Amino acid sequence: MTASTEKMPALFVGHGSPMNAIEENNFTKKWEKITAEIPKPEAILAISAHWYTEGTRITDSAQPKIVYDMYGFPDELYEVVYDAKGSPELARQTIGLINREVKIDNSWGYDHGAWVVLRKMYPEADIPVIQLSVDSHADAESHFKLGREISILREKGVLILGSGNVVHNLSRINWEEESGYPWAMEFDNYIKNKIIKRQYQDVINYKTAGKSSASAFVTPDHFYPLLCVLGASREEDRLSVFNDSCTMGSLSMTSYLFK
Ligand code: ZN
Repeated sequence: MTASTEKMPALFVGHGSPMNAIEENNFTKKWEKITAEIPKPEAILAISAHWYTEGTRITDSAQPKIVYDMYGFPDELYEVVYDAKGSPELARQTIGLINREVKIDNSWGYDHGAWVVLRKMYPEADIPVIQLSVDSHADAESHFKLGREISILREKGVLILGSGNVVHNLSRINWEEESGYPWAMEFDNYIKNKIIKRQYQDVINYKTAGKSSASAFVTPDHFYPLLCVLGASREEDRLSVFNDSCTMGSLSMTSYLFK
């Protein structure tokens, strides 16, 4: 991989429902537009909420498969193809940067946390993508540190893309609800204000948000990709917040671009 002179962003996207892969709405329209605001990456390192593993894993296949890791959706969603190449070279470099064991695992590929968003951002699938898992045994601080360790990739033409949701509580979801429940908006706003003030320690210690933090998610798989992106951000980055809202009661779509 040749190094790009332009620093690439670190980007966290709230991916929401898998249907966003095939629907057009205000969220997906913004995903389509955001690529015009950033340089074209040479490769993408995607950290998806939907690869939640014991320990850290990485794909290093030259041609990763697509994984349809969602159930009960229309057939059309299972016909989506995202056939970007992988990058064994980027996987090797990434492993070298991370200060803990990283297992190569090509039983996984592009899951819907990655392809729902990438399909809108880069529909031509002409940029190599690798995936890094979220570690179910590691805490928020560890994911933040991992982000710090891989941050240097941004100087080598690599877009660091975290895909999750700040608020993600499927047991409380209401598909008919357009907005968010008060506690969902409260937690989302708390995190947003801390990020804007760059008080990341309070994002790591998200329980300081109080009662709303107990409802925001049951497991932190959708939250930790944000921690990786915050870790990969720099003081000098400009921050843009977009898709700043909650939907379906208990989902936050709020997204953060550091560039
Ligand atoms: Zn998800």
